[in-house]
Amino acid sequence: MGVEPVFRLVDGEHGPGVTYDCGCPCTPTATLAVDGQPGFEHCCCGKVHFAGPGADPAMTAYLAERAARRKREPRYVRGSGSLQTASGPVEIAWAFPAE
Ligand SMILES: [Zn+2]
Ligand SMILES: [Zn+2]
Repeated sequence: MGVEPVFRLVDGEHGPGVTYDCGCPCTPTATLAVDGQPGFEHCCCGKVHFAGPGADPAMTAYLAERAARRKREPRYVRGSGSLQTASGPVEIAWAFPAE
């Protein structure tokens, strides 16, 4: 079982976002709330994270939707928290494949 990821702010392609050290060559970046929705990225390595208001319920809905339409969906280890930023705390949720 992995260690909890450490999230940080970055300037992404589409504006400020939240990333972490993924362990693959990518810098998976969830762009911060657009139209009040949390941004997310599902990395090539199977890890998912959301950042913004309602990140955790958005993750629940996202994973439920995938589980309903995909035959081979991994089990995920999930967590949530928040990241302090200059404009206040940002909600974060993550789900990493368990195996
Ligand atoms: Zn990757
Ligand atoms: Zn990755």
